[in-house]
Amino acid sequence: MVKAFTQLERVLSLEEKQGYKNTAVVGGIRQFAAFWITKARDDALDEDDRALVEQVAEVLQGYARLPGIEARAAAIASLREKLRQRKEWSASGQAAPPPPPEPSRPARQPAMPRKPVPAPVPQPVMAQEPDPEGLTQPVTALAGAGPATASRLAKMGVETLWDLLYLFPRRYDDYSQLKPINRLEVGETVTIIGTIWETRARRTRSSQRIVQSVISDGTGNIQATWFNQPWLAQKLPAGKRIVISGTVDQYLGRKVFTSPEWEELAEELMHTGRIVPVYPLTKGLNANKMRDLMKRAVEEWAPRIPETLPEDIRARQQLLPLQQALLQIHFPESSELLHAARRRLAFDELFLLQLGMLGQRRTWQAEPALPLPAAPPQRQQFVDSLPFSLTDAQQRVVEEITADMARPVPMNRLLQGDVGSGKTVVAAAAMVTAVAGGAQAAMMAPTEILAEQHYQGLHGLLAPLGIRVALLTGSTSGGDREQIYAGLADGSVDIAIGTHALIQDNVQFHRLALAIIDEQHRFGVDQRAALRDKGNPAVNGQGEARNPHLLVMSATPIPRSLALSMYGDLDLSILDEMPPGRQEIRTRWIRPSERERAYAFVRGQVQQGRQAYFICPLVEESNKIEAKAAVEEHARLQKQVFPNLKVGLVHGRMSSAEKEEVMRAFHSGEMDILVSTSVIEVGVDVPNSSVMVIEGANRFGLAQLHQFRGRVGRGEHQSYCLLVSDAASLDAEERLQALEQTNDGFQLAEKDLELRGPGEFFGRRQSGMPELRLASLLDLQLLELARGEAQALFAEDPELEPEELAALREQVRVFWEEAGDVS
Ligand code: ADP
Ligand code: MG
Repeated sequence: MVKAFTQLERVLSLEEKQGYKNTAVVGGIRQFAAFWITKARDDALDEDDRALVEQVAEVLQGYARLPGIEARAAAIASLREKLRQRKEWSASGQAAPPPPPEPSRPARQPAMPRKPVPAPVPQPVMAQEPDPEGLTQPVTALAGAGPATASRLAKMGVETLWDLLYLFPRRYDDYSQLKPINRLEVGETVTIIGTIWETRARRTRSSQRIVQSVISDGTGNIQATWFNQPWLAQKLPAGKRIVISGTVDQYLGRKVFTSPEWEELAEELMHTGRIVPVYPLTKGLNANKMRDLMKRAVEEWAPRIPETLPEDIRARQQLLPLQQALLQIHFPESSELLHAARRRLAFDELFLLQLGMLGQRRTWQAEPALPLPAAPPQRQQFVDSLPFSLTDAQQRVVEEITADMARPVPMNRLLQGDVGSGKTVVAAAAMVTAVAGGAQAAMMAPTEILAEQHYQGLHGLLAPLGIRVALLTGSTSGGDREQIYAGLADGSVDIAIGTHALIQDNVQFHRLALAIIDEQHRFGVDQRAALRDKGNPAVNGQGEARNPHLLVMSATPIPRSLALSMYGDLDLSILDEMPPGRQEIRTRWIRPSERERAYAFVRGQVQQGRQAYFICPLVEESNKIEAKAAVEEHARLQKQVFPNLKVGLVHGRMSSAEKEEVMRAFHSGEMDILVSTSVIEVGVDVPNSSVMVIEGANRFGLAQLHQFRGRVGRGEHQSYCLLVSDAASLDAEERLQALEQTNDGFQLAEKDLELRGPGEFFGRRQSGMPELRLASLLDLQLLELARGEAQALFAEDPELEPEELAALREQVRVFWEEAGDVS
């Protein structure tokens, strides 16, 4: 939908620039309208958008016939204003996006906790029935909600009454301003009360069915129009007293309402005359029906929901009681109360988040780990054998990690460092320390290329120290695989480097004491847990329960306080220093028409002995199509653009051996240029490469582009990144500009957060985090408060045992269980 509107916006602005000559689109605006409307109608997500599409349609179709520039200018201006408002609304809207089409969330009373067991209560012994009031009954328990309604709600993940209470409005319309008709002003959002003079149904030129009423209140009259709701004609007979709420529009010089909210004048106004909740909708449940349903649910059931927060926390943080918060979030009596309600419910989310993480950490550390001496001679030997000396930051972080590993409590540490900050050697130093202590270590990477590269690098460095390293990926051949399995099981292999192949059932370790996960954001919670379990003999049925030390690494730098909250169960180490001699990567966004210049530039760099990457556009639908596109691009570049240079190709459909061979050849300088799909996003390290050309740069996310760019500038050569893209969308433009402006991953991460919001930024699936509907992780102040309270409560009652915490305990369990269920 956003796309359709962005496109429209561009056309409107062009038309404006060109002086309203109906020239913005070849064939005229009307032609564009026909094409645009079909698409936009299909895409429209809710009633508001549908109504907007129809309004746009009407204006566009009549545009060519409008008499003179002024009328056209006014028409375009009014449309642009509407688009702007729509954007504002959706930007200021609730956390809850329009409902995803697919799977319904499980009911709120799920059966067994899944792994990793997140709740702080291993065996909830319910002193009392957790749901004495019956809130977990299906929504059909509500009068007026039959099976049809239930199945529509289920599409939005709502199955129980409880779910329904937590289905928050997407946004609110403030109709609490009542005004006489003669004082209405264009653009303001108001409520009027009046009598219907007449109502007519007709068809527009675009054969939309519309209903128009004229309403009078004694001071004046005004016309209201509704689209595609022919039945309204019966419901709005002349003489009826109604209340209308909406934004005052202008149409051909007159003030009008377009698709306003309305209801019969009654004692209590629900759809108008107040701050009106606007819910996410789904097919078959319109806005009014949804509000009626919610009204009944809230009135009947919110008063029965048990308070979850201990009284002292509520008092200290000045939070509304839960029941009141639920009432006010749905049908706010004032904007102050709405604010207070949101604050309370957002606090809850952050609080539950923190409690869950503290619980995870406790469960994890409840089993001992193998203590490994922190400074064995091999560690120093390893560091001395490096072709460079460690940065201060690397030294500090190695100390932090090995100090953790020396304790009989399992390490649980996150290592953050921007792309190129040198995380791999830190990981290697930790692995050497583990092996010196008589144990094994494993490092899991998200792609085969990366695993292979880690293996190449570490094998060379560690073999001289007598450490045996093995590589295990999906394409390790059968014979080799058996041998590696045997070596890991009997302890003759010290370090395993690999992909997901490491967590397959057949893999058994003799004594795995250190598990490392590189580029952790690429793994799901379950995969992380599976690697940890490989180091727990009890899980493998072989001995005492014991957890390995765990180190997860990430190149996504996020603000420290945010990191602490996101990964509250992890300790944090930060590599905040780049190895010496790094130059800033110069980044330029160029248009596709400027490609030739980019090619000339690449030629120049190659002449100076450097190497270059070409990244092909992302093709989301299929690996296969993406690979095919890359093959074609490679052929074109080799034959037509760089016939005298050696151009290589790597993509996701090649076998591991093929990829490895290409990477080896590129690394050793046998190739000048490497054409690649997004498979080289992470980790690849060829210090001689100095240019990266990213085609279709607008298709990638900011973090991903920054990762790509990190493939160059890894040696002492001045490096460049050329982003090829036409102006695609405003968002993409912002991303590309941000990349031009800074190399600082930290700043880019903040920008990315700002552009995408924390939900998408972290990817719920990847991080295994529960979904936050109201709270934002960016609200650091509330986050800190919630964290403080959670820690205090946890210190006192880690199991949340007391009777008065039963409701909270249940809430934590459910909150986290839903997160587990997605992964
Ligand atoms: P990342 O943190 O992105 O995983 P890598 O571990 O791949 O970074 O390191 C990037 C490059 O920097 C590698 O070529 C590595 O050998 C080199 N490097 C790491 N530490 C240092 C250092 N202290 N001095 C010089 N080069 C270093
Ligand atoms: Mg790395």
